[in-house]
Amino acid sequence: MKRGAKLNKADRELIAAATEAIKERYRYDWQEVGAALRTRSGRIFTGINLDAYLGRMAVCAEAVALGRAFVDLGDDGIDTIVAVRHPDPDEKSQAVAVVSPCGACRELIFDYDRKARVIVPNGKLAEVVPIGKLLPNKYRRGPER
Ligand SMILES: [Zn+2]
Repeated sequence: MKRGAKLNKADRELIAAATEAIKERYRYDWQEVGAALRTRSGRIFTGINLDAYLGRMAVCAEAVALGRAFVDLGDDGIDTIVAVRHPDPDEKSQAVAVVSPCGACRELIFDYDRKARVIVPNGKLAEVVPIGKLLPNKYRRGPER
């Protein structure tokens, strides 16, 4: 399988922004994932997941970041997006690490920018892949065109 692209300086800045967001607001079992996205015009927005007692009301960090971007800028597209997970206090490694977007977030990212770059884990490191590569056979409401 073809590997993704290496991270550039802007990608590392985005990981740092997501890491800062979740380090600031981490709460065990409630807020554990941070996200950051860079819009097409170059602004960075961060988000954290909103877990909920009623599980289906939970919202992913990527969606929160996209919502913040959309409130400020409207539809400005997603150049790059990343999510990171904060470890629980009892975990051996206390490093915040890049995680892949869940299936629902892959759909969301694609819906808002089908050329978005996504930073995903690659072993202990990370790489950049286009959202389309993470979403083969995307869901469609109507017949295939
Ligand atoms: Zn998600």
